[in-house]
Amino acid sequence: MGIFQDDRAPELFVPDLSRPAGATVDADGNVACVTCGTKLPVAKADVVGQGYRCPACTAKADLAKLTGGPSDIAANLSLDDRAGMRAFGAKFIGLGILMMVGGGIGYAAIGPLRAFGYLCVAGLGTLIFGITRYTAAR
Ligand SMILES: [Zn+2]
Repeated sequence: MGIFQDDRAPELFVPDLSRPAGATVDADGNVACVTCGTKLPVAKADVVGQGYRCPACTAKADLAKLTGGPSDIAANLSLDDRAGMRAFGAKFIGLGILMMVGGGIGYAAIGPLRAFGYLCVAGLGTLIFGITRYTAAR
């Protein structure tokens, strides 16, 4: 619904609700763990983004998260989603570098204006955001 009644309604966003390949339940009610492949009853499995995971693998992933070990992102996001996250982060890395270079050039060519300082700081923030997003997809 728009502000005015004559406005065209926006496209309804419907996310992809199809089940991932790892979320299949066999006729006996068993599922395979997306991490180790162990078969277990669906009632005992944990739900992750790519399907189901056995409690032992979830415990290992939780422990790894607490101790700074490898991330379990592969159990939750598809390769396409991870590539999209990396591309999104790379755009912000590039934008942050451009903003910092622009601020530096402006500072050197025009003079010590506050706007150039703000541009450098905003560029640094954008760069850090991009790096965070990029590395989260690993
Ligand atoms: Zn497992």
